[in-house]
Amino acid sequence: MAPFTQGCGAIFTMHHVTAKRPGAFLPNQHLEITPEFLRVSVERIRRNGYEILALDEAVDLLKSGYGRKRYAVLTFDDGYRDNLEVAYPVLKELKAPFTIYVASGLIDRETELWWVALEHMINTNDALVLAESGTGEGIPCRTVDEKNACYQRLLDFLTTEASESEQRQIIRRLAERYDFDLSALADRMMMNWDELRQLSSEPLVTLGAHTHGHHALARLSDDDARKDIMTGVYRMQAELGRKPKHFAYPYGNPVAVSARDARLLADIGFNSAVTTFPNVLKSVNARNPMMLPRVSINGHFQQEYIIDQYLTGAPFALYNAARWARGGFGVRSGVSRLFPSTR
Ligand SMILES: [Zn+2]
Repeated sequence: MAPFTQGCGAIFTMHHVTAKRPGAFLPNQHLEITPEFLRVSVERIRRNGYEILALDEAVDLLKSGYGRKRYAVLTFDDGYRDNLEVAYPVLKELKAPFTIYVASGLIDRETELWWVALEHMINTNDALVLAESGTGEGIPCRTVDEKNACYQRLLDFLTTEASESEQRQIIRRLAERYDFDLSALADRMMMNWDELRQLSSEPLVTLGAHTHGHHALARLSDDDARKDIMTGVYRMQAELGRKPKHFAYPYGNPVAVSARDARLLADIGFNSAVTTFPNVLKSVNARNPMMLPRVSINGHFQQEYIIDQYLTGAPFALYNAARWARGGFGVRSGVSRLFPSTR
């Protein structure tokens, strides 16, 4: 399929680079790859004939339509400390440029790392009581199966039924009830501004914007969406002395991204914006640089051959065809395991 599905390049999405964690309940494990797999991935991308470019250069190439060389871009979302401590030394040694999209509220310790907090609270309790009154038995989460079911149920509820502000209120209430310190969690996991300043002076590194509050923009009003984007821009400019030129939508999936948001970002003056719509880059993407697809490197599939498969574009063609066919032929369930929602 490669001759039909392969594009001119690919933008890879990563989150954590860290040693494998022990344990059976790890609902965010797809967001974690090891430093060994990061190294192997970079080598494999290059062996396939792709040059690893800084984001600026890749976006320029895409927009100018020069498709003669194949290129890949490495991106990390949110601003985790392991990007500095674990990923950066590997990428520096390999001379591979990369981009980190920073959610400024996480760096300011104001924004809730709710998906991690939820994992911790489910892991350390036998049931979670959500109701305000605190009565009732709550959602059971004693066994690993129950913990996974509880996580999935709350993830669905918090990202579709609850509004963005209700989602955060619920997490704050849970954190209070189960004595979980949200700002200590951000302190432990996220870089601070000094660490980001250290990275921003490094020629291999591009820092992009990822909003302030890490909200699914499409679920916010016009005013709130603009405010979340602009607060992120102002905070980065104030702390790093530079306005970010590139943007990544939090979560980046079709529920979190809308055409309205793409227009907002273009009005504000961003050069590019990336989603997590799974696909390689094709010349057609030059028409809408505010909605570029990305390839998420999935922590559940840390094998070299998967990088080759991603670069062919074939898994995405299959996935998109299956989505279009509404899951016909059983292809969708098989292929979509590759593309769980990211953060
Ligand atoms: Zn994110």
